[in-house]
Amino acid sequence: MIQITDEMPETWVRALAEAVEGYGYEIEDAHEAAIVVELPTDAAQALHADEDQDKLVIGWAGDDESDEPGTVHWGLSGDAAHIDRVETFADETDEIDTIAARVHRLLRTGRTEPRQVQHAVPYAEISDACRCPTAYPCRGIVPAADCPEHGGTRAPAMSWHWEETCI
Ligand SMILES: [Zn+2]
Ligand SMILES: [Zn+2]
Repeated sequence: MIQITDEMPETWVRALAEAVEGYGYEIEDAHEAAIVVELPTDAAQALHADEDQDKLVIGWAGDDESDEPGTVHWGLSGDAAHIDRVETFADETDEIDTIAARVHRLLRTGRTEPRQVQHAVPYAEISDACRCPTAYPCRGIVPAADCPEHGGTRAPAMSWHWEETCI
């Protein structure tokens, strides 16, 4: 069981909260146990958040047996206290700017690190038949081989860009 711990130094909390705010996000709360960021609607979609999850919680979590202390985690929450699933995304020793950039990427794209995939933006409107996952934040697609509209043999006209550049 991973627990969000209450050991973040105030200076670290303040520096990260300010850096995240610098990207235009709203900080709801910031204290030694958690930095709570309000989820913009786009971010909720990119993260596939449940309807009642409107906060991103950042905290240090540790597992007494296996996890190193001071690993930075994120999770989605509705009340800032209960988090269904926490994921690691940085170490406490990483630069604040690096961590804030990952938070920004997470809120824009749903991932803290870009994948080595290209997004496609079809010139024609995407129909209901499309089976491709939506790419964020461009709202293009990551073409699926079996999509009747964009799959392997169809090759419709689309513009392409690497996920890394999509933010
Ligand atoms: Zn498709
Ligand atoms: Zn994109």
